Amino acid sequence: MERKIAVIRGDGIGPEIVDGALKVIDAISEKYGHKFIYEDVLMGGASINVYGKPLTDEFLSKAASCDAILLGAIGGDASVSPWYKLESFLRPEAGLLKLRKSLNLFANLRPSYLYDELKDACPLKEEIVEDGFDMVIMRELTGGLYFGERETVLKNGEYVAHDNLVYSESEIRRIAIRAFDIARKRNKKVTSVDKANVIDTSRLWRKVIEEVSKEYPDVKLEHMLVDNCAMQLIKNPKQFDVILTENMFGDILSDEASMITGSIGMLSSASLRDDSFGMYEPSHGSAPDIAGKDIANPIATILSAAMMLRYSFDMIAEANSIENAVKKVLEDGYRTVDIMSEGKKEVSCSKMSELIADRI
Ligand code: NAD
Repeated sequence: MERKIAVIRGDGIGPEIVDGALKVIDAISEKYGHKFIYEDVLMGGASINVYGKPLTDEFLSKAASCDAILLGAIGGDASVSPWYKLESFLRPEAGLLKLRKSLNLFANLRPSYLYDELKDACPLKEEIVEDGFDMVIMRELTGGLYFGERETVLKNGEYVAHDNLVYSESEIRRIAIRAFDIARKRNKKVTSVDKANVIDTSRLWRKVIEEVSKEYPDVKLEHMLVDNCAMQLIKNPKQFDVILTENMFGDILSDEASMITGSIGMLSSASLRDDSFGMYEPSHGSAPDIAGKDIANPIATILSAAMMLRYSFDMIAEANSIENAVKKVLEDGYRTVDIMSEGKKEVSCSKMSELIADRI
């Protein structure tokens, strides 16, 4: 099979972790006889440095012409980087928002899984996580508060700001279908998270989710208020299978769900739409504090590449092969510094990628 991948290395540790993931994809290509063509796309600070903007229309079209996108991370340290002295639409993050919106990547999927080998790194009490947990958070990504009209005005001698939170039935329905489809292939449970006791968009959200759930009688649906969900994630994470929620709630809850695994360098993510195209990236940022040192954990990006094979290319055996190689490397005792513990073997970013590629 031949597939074209837009490769966005981005900023900070982005180039290191993406190169690690490409090593693993090359190993898949060799083992299964696929041809992967890599198209370099500049985005974020790397693009600002050359073109003065975080994503040019040419690179956007190039990314859109591929079958999927593999992204490292973008952005820098806002307290020192000159990128953050620019207007907000010219900053690195604006490139990512433009890409998501232009390509209509409305569904963000983040698995949160506790590896047996990394239980020590989990900040929750042992009795809470003794049986592990395995959930995904499906976050709506192109609507809601982050995309509504906003304004700051001077009124009666003081600044007043507002941000609009808007959702249409169709925006809610399309992500609900995605979430129920995924739950059907997992443990058949959707927890829809909202704030329906207070806000209108949440009441509409709940109504549409109820309608969609009728098409999936085999999938159990429950509703949970966002404040309760934040608490339940810490109290009993094992209860969750697919958490489905809107943009801002998902932003916050998915970071919480990442943290309880104790290892942000391990967590992959996918941004999907309703065809096979998708963008795949680690859940973490560009980690400017450790950039260029070859110590970043490449596993989140490598597992994101596995999601790309599964969701965009329908290469299930190949995706399993990457996930098993990651498990094997952890079983064999190799760790990057962020997940290091006593008695284990500390390796660099490039070495970890090589060890995983060797196990494909
Ligand atoms: P971050 O995720 O980059 O880093 C948080 C902490 O986790 C740091 O101590 C970092 O060293 C560590 N860390 C992150 N990834 C790691 C890895 N793979 N291996 C080992 N340690 C790792 O978050 P931040 O510091 O808040 O943000 C830094 C920059 O990244 C900012 O400019 C932010 O806007 C950007 N960012 C980009 C994305 C993206 O590209 N999608 C997402 C989040 C943040």
